[in-house]
Amino acid sequence: MKRRDFCVSALAAGIATTLPDRHAFALAAADVADLAAVTSKGAQTTLEGAAVRELADSMRGNLLMSGEHGYDHARAVWNGMIDRKPALIARCEGASDVSHAMTFARERNLLVAVRGGGHSISGKAVCNGGLMIDLSSMNSVRADLTTRTARADGGCLEGHIDHEAAMLHLATTGGVVSHTGAGGLTLGGGFGRLCRKYAMACDNFIGADIVTVDGQLRHVSDEENAELMWALRGGGSNFGVVTALEYKLHQQDPMVVAGDINFAWKDARDALMFYAEHGDDMPDELNLNVILVTVPEVGRIVSFEAIWCGDPAKADAALRPLRNVATPIADTVAAVPYAKFQKRGDNSNRHGARLYMKSSFVNDFTPELVDEVLEVHRESPIYAIYFMQSGGAVNRKASADTAFPHRSAHSNMMLWNQWHDLESEAERETRIAEVRSDWARLKKFTHGYYVNLNEEDAARTHANYGENYERLVKVKKKYDPTNLMHMNANIDPTG
Ligand SMILES: Cc1cc2nc3c(=O)[nH]c(=O)nc-3n(C[C@H](O)[C@H](O)[C@H](O)COP(=O)(O)OP(=O)(O)OC[C@H]3O[C@@H](n4cnc5c(N)ncnc54)[C@H](O)[C@@H]3O)c2cc1C
Repeated sequence: MKRRDFCVSALAAGIATTLPDRHAFALAAADVADLAAVTSKGAQTTLEGAAVRELADSMRGNLLMSGEHGYDHARAVWNGMIDRKPALIARCEGASDVSHAMTFARERNLLVAVRGGGHSISGKAVCNGGLMIDLSSMNSVRADLTTRTARADGGCLEGHIDHEAAMLHLATTGGVVSHTGAGGLTLGGGFGRLCRKYAMACDNFIGADIVTVDGQLRHVSDEENAELMWALRGGGSNFGVVTALEYKLHQQDPMVVAGDINFAWKDARDALMFYAEHGDDMPDELNLNVILVTVPEVGRIVSFEAIWCGDPAKADAALRPLRNVATPIADTVAAVPYAKFQKRGDNSNRHGARLYMKSSFVNDFTPELVDEVLEVHRESPIYAIYFMQSGGAVNRKASADTAFPHRSAHSNMMLWNQWHDLESEAERETRIAEVRSDWARLKKFTHGYYVNLNEEDAARTHANYGENYERLVKVKKKYDPTNLMHMNANIDPTG
C-alpha cells in the first residue's frame, strides 16, 4: 500500500470508529434482512429489508433493531415491569424524522408507539413488534421573557421546562417528578404543584407542532387548526406526534415555601378530615398533596406535602391551619427553590421502578371516604395512598373548554403500589391483587379518572370524556381515520 493510500484509509477508519451508530448503520453492507413485525390490528407482517434501509437513510437520527447497540436502552421505559420489543425504534432528531417514520408506519399499517418521557405506567410508549417513535433526543427548551412563553421539543421532560423558566423568574404547571415527559403529561391534562394557581399544563398549552398520521407537519393554536388544539388539551396522543409544545409562563418567584408536615397515625383521621373539609376553599397559592405511607422505624403516618407559591410574607398565615390540625411529628416546610423542590421525588420514583396502581377523581370528600381510606391503609400498609389536590384555577374552567373534562374534582385518589426490587411472579400477583381488592372498596367514592394514569381503561374512555367525547371523535376521524395512533386512552374514530 502506498503511503498516501495508507494515510487516507487510516483516517477513514479513524472517522468510522468515532461516528455515531446511525452512520455505522448507513455505511454497513447495503443488505438489511426482511423483518418480522406486527400490524396496527395485531396481525403478523414482514417489513422488506430495502424499505427499512430506505427509512434509515431518510433519517437524521438512528433507526435501531434488535441486537443493535442502544436498542435495549431505547426500549426500556419507566415502569420496570414493562418489557416489550419493537421491530424498529426510530430515534428521531426532529419533525422530519418523525414524518418519515409516521409515513413508513401508515403505508404498512404498522403498530405504532410514541415515546416522550416514557412514564406511561402501562407502558404505552413501547410496543411489541411495531415501530417505536422515540422523541427522547428531542429535548431543547427556549423560554422567552418578553412573551412569557416557552417552546419545548416533543421529548422534553418537565424538569427541562422548570429549569429554563426559573432562570427568568417564570414558571408553568408541570408534574411532581421532574423526569416525567412534558408531552405525555400535557396531552393528557397535567396536574402539578402550581395547578391551583395557574391551572393545568393543558390549560397553559397554547400551541404545538404536530406530525399527523398523513405525515404532514402542522402548527396548531387557538387560531390555526383550532379544533385540533382543543383536542390536544386532554385528548392524549390520539391525533399524531407532537414535535413541539408552546406554553404560557407566569411570573413566579423562584423561591417558594414548601415541605412536609407529618402527623402520627393517631391523628390520621383529623388530618384527612381537615383536607376533606378545607381542600376546596384553600387559597390558590397553596397546594396540598396528602400521602398515607409507612415510614421505616416510624410506622404509618399521614404526610401533608405543602407548597406556598405566593408572597413569602403570607406563607406562615396560610400554613398555620395545617400545622394546627394536630402536633406534627415532623415539619420541614421552609423556603426552597421551586425547580429544586420539583426534583425531590426523582430518586424515589427513579426509572426502573415497578408500579401497579389504581386512581380516580374524588369530587365529594366525605367522612365515609375518610374512614374507608384509613381502614384500607390499616389493612394494606405496604403501599401509599396518595391524594393529589385539584381545585382552584383547575376548576374555574368549564368541562368543555378543553378535551380534559374533569373540572369538579377535589382530588385525584391513587393507590400507589411501587417497589424497586425484582419480584417473583407470585409476589407481583399478590401486590396487584391487593390493589385491585382495595380499589373495589374505594371505587364507589370516585367520579371519572385521569387518562394519564388509567390508559388501560379503554371500555370506559367514552364515558370518561363525557360530553367532550363526540367532539373528540370528529377530530379523530379527520386526522386519524384508521386509528393508527391507538396506544393511548383511545378515541375510536368510528364512535
Ligand atoms: C413517577 C410518575 C410521576 C407522575 N407525576 C405526575 C404528575 O405530577 N402530574 C400528572 O399530571 N401526571 C403525572 N404522572 C402521569 C404522567 O402524566 C403520565 O404517565 C404521562 O403519560 C407521562 O408522559 P411521558 O411523556 O413521560 O410518557 P410516555 O410513556 O412517553 O408517553 C405517554 C403517552 O403519551 C404519548 N406521548 C408522549 N409524548 C408524546 C408526544 N410528544 N406526542 C404524541 N404523543 C406523545 C405516548 O405515546 C403515550 O401514549 C406521573 C407518572 C409517573 C410514573
